[in-house]
Amino acid sequence: MANKNNNNSRLKTWFGKIQEKKRIIVLDIDNYEEKRSYTTSKFNLFVLSTFCVIVLGFLAFTLISYSSLKTLIPGYPNPTQQQQLKDKNIIIDQKLSELIEKTEKEKVYINNVLEILNGNIPLDEKDTNWTKIKTNVSPTQNEISPSEKSIREKVQNREKFDIDVIPGGALKSEVLPQLLLFPPIKGEITNKMNISNGHFGVDVIAPKNEAVSSILNGTIVYQNWSPTDGHVVHIQHKKNLLSIYKHNSEILKKIGDFVESGEPIAIVGNSGEHSTGPHLHFELWHNGYPLDPEKFINFN
Ligand SMILES: [Zn+2]
Repeated sequence: MANKNNNNSRLKTWFGKIQEKKRIIVLDIDNYEEKRSYTTSKFNLFVLSTFCVIVLGFLAFTLISYSSLKTLIPGYPNPTQQQQLKDKNIIIDQKLSELIEKTEKEKVYINNVLEILNGNIPLDEKDTNWTKIKTNVSPTQNEISPSEKSIREKVQNREKFDIDVIPGGALKSEVLPQLLLFPPIKGEITNKMNISNGHFGVDVIAPKNEAVSSILNGTIVYQNWSPTDGHVVHIQHKKNLLSIYKHNSEILKKIGDFVESGEPIAIVGNSGEHSTGPHLHFELWHNGYPLDPEKFINFN
């Protein structure tokens, strides 16, 4: 208690001391004559100097912030560097939006390919050939004739690539009765489709350098060269219809290209070990099963 009182009285004494008025006298150095005099206290001097420091600090801050002096601060970018940074940001923004656009396009492309493979219809709806198929192949089981239904069930119960048990292309001629396909090439058929021999299409003799055409609107999904088959191209059409063209001398399209019915896609040749002269080996597949092209296409 006594200690606290002691502290209080000390504080009072100290506060009284700094408030004590003092006199500052300015003397002439030659004759010690009084020039000017000020009356103040230590406390007043402290308040005045604090105020001066705040004002000076504010002025310095304003001067540096609103003038080019700020560029002299170490680490602060100069105007040229700032412009370069801005330019870089713009370039990065452009590249980013290009990348996003490209990704979106690729997404659409992949979705389209998936849609085609799933039998949905992302391709051009104006395809009249396909409209005919749609009207003949009803999507609901109720509208399918009993014989067609039993054929479908048989097919669905079999393994997709168990070729031995497929009763030839005749099966599908009932499913796709009025399908009008453009002949890939006109000419004599020298080798008919024969599943038991492993010949899943027909060979059509044609003059050299004759154009090979797409049988229906579709998308090029495969294009390559192999020693046995030469230049080969596959076209995916709507509803899981796939056409294959082998032994070409040249392919005119790239994978992903959309082609129309009758559009030239290759030049006939005799490329590949299995080819003995200029001819086209043509295959037609539906839902993973080979069809006999002669039942759908007039090659003469
Ligand atoms: Zn062949």
